[in-house]
Amino acid sequence: MNIKYIGNDSSKSEKGKIHVKKGNYTGCGARIDDNQEDWVETNEAVTCEKNGCKDK
Ligand SMILES: [Zn+2]
Repeated sequence: MNIKYIGNDSSKSEKGKIHVKKGNYTGCGARIDDNQEDWVETNEAVTCEKNGCKDK
């Protein structure tokens, strides 16, 4: 399962970017569980190009 960022904090992630989900973090290290309402699980393909998401 991947996860899409729908919040507005551009320091955390670009809005609409899809990351690999690893527990409470994205594959690239952004924290999910401090603002869970800003993230939504998705089956769409990963669009994040940072290490940990891009190469899984
Ligand atoms: Zn990522």
